[in-house]
Amino acid sequence: MEKLSVREARQPEAIGRQAKLQGWIRTRRDSKGGFSFLEVNDGSCLANIQIVADGDLPNYQTEIKQLSAGCSVTICGTVKPSGGKGQVTEIQAKSVQVHGWADPEEFPLQKKRHSFEKLREWAHLRPRTNTFGAVARVRSQLCQSIHSFFHERNFLYVHTPIITASDCEGAGEMFRVTTLDPANTPRTSDGKVDYAQDFFDRPTYLTVSGQLEGEIYATALGKIYTFGPTFRAENSNTSRHLAEFWMVEPEMAFCTLQENMDLAEQFLKHLCGELLSQCGDDLQFFNDRIDDQLLQRLGDVAASEQFERLSYTEAVALLEKSGESFDYPVTWGANLQAEHERYLTEKVLCRPVIVYDYPAAIKPFYMKVNDDQQTVAAMDVLLPGVGEIIGGSQREDRLDVIEAKMKEQGLQPEDYWWYLDLRRFGTVPHAGFGLGLERMVQFVTGMANIRDVIPFPRTPGNAEF
Ligand code: ATP
Ligand code: MN
Repeated sequence: MEKLSVREARQPEAIGRQAKLQGWIRTRRDSKGGFSFLEVNDGSCLANIQIVADGDLPNYQTEIKQLSAGCSVTICGTVKPSGGKGQVTEIQAKSVQVHGWADPEEFPLQKKRHSFEKLREWAHLRPRTNTFGAVARVRSQLCQSIHSFFHERNFLYVHTPIITASDCEGAGEMFRVTTLDPANTPRTSDGKVDYAQDFFDRPTYLTVSGQLEGEIYATALGKIYTFGPTFRAENSNTSRHLAEFWMVEPEMAFCTLQENMDLAEQFLKHLCGELLSQCGDDLQFFNDRIDDQLLQRLGDVAASEQFERLSYTEAVALLEKSGESFDYPVTWGANLQAEHERYLTEKVLCRPVIVYDYPAAIKPFYMKVNDDQQTVAAMDVLLPGVGEIIGGSQREDRLDVIEAKMKEQGLQPEDYWWYLDLRRFGTVPHAGFGLGLERMVQFVTGMANIRDVIPFPRTPGNAEF
């Protein structure tokens, strides 16, 4: 007998087929007529399939009537048209085989709804709920669309390392990687930790970004992207920060800030457009249950003419004359806080916004200094609901300028000799950006907390599962 997923068996074309379905019971309802309805879910789509199990099945009394939420089953039967609402098909069971029971006294996911906070404590079971199943499918589709976007544009997919000796942001907040014994750290004669005895002969960390290595491949092969986990030991307990998150980072040779912004915009439109066509049911679910503006917002991004673009200086002027009272004051030279970003994209401009040309003093050494000497060719893309989703820049391609910047920021140019070589040999204008995958999943699902859009969130104090 042919195996069908619930998704396949729900299609009208499946009617008349003999099928084998496998999944987990969501509910059982016994009819007065001496038969039962089972709702089975296998994760292939949001919806369940209805199984009709007649009373004359050999294990009807002994097993079928004991089934409860969470039990795993194999059903063999015929796909039939269904009279029930919300479904075109149902399965008339010829056999119901039980693989595993789930004691209703103990299995936590009963019909009663649980808060997302509670479900975080059951990260091993929450993918069996509608919401987390939908998040997983949307996240997977986004990843496919990320690859297809770059593949269609002839970008090369490059794997940058996870363990690194350089700090891309130049700002600490990194997790150390070491095999030294913390209880017995080797010391040099002047009392410092002797990293010469460590695994890599030097201090090493988990990467905060693949950018620096991405630049190496872009300045050889033209257009590349990396897509992998990144790590930040920032102790910020917010709904938008994780200690481990996934980042997509394209990097392009012969590329200006303008072209970088164009690509970021096309990228977000592509992701929203593909998702609307591929994950309609899941998005509808989020629109019904989580955020009733969701479909509207996604449609707007996918179809929008152009994202609003304004310089940092213009953004500050807008905020200053807003009359809003912010927790953090707005002054030229200070970083835009999340409240400022969200005010711009949600209240003033009401659409995606790209802010560019930030003050040099608040940005890392690798961003290209503009002719005004005060600002750098940086850009952030802000989306309603999540704020900053993309950060990028044109990179400084002049050796003397970047060396001076490094020294200014307390970095040793010798430590970055290979990065500086890219400016020494055949330097080119180049640019790139980073998109936080989880922020994107938040935007497209409306999920308020970033801990609920990654299977196993890593945040300060949490690393169970
Ligand atoms: P923020 O100001 O929100 O902390 P950032 O300026 O540190 O962000 P970048 O270093 O530019 O961010 O990183 C690029 C992208 O990675 C961001 O636009 C965001 O989408 C994502 N990102 C950054 N930090 C985190 C984090 N701790 N958890 C999840 N995503 C993150
Ligand atoms: Mn940050």
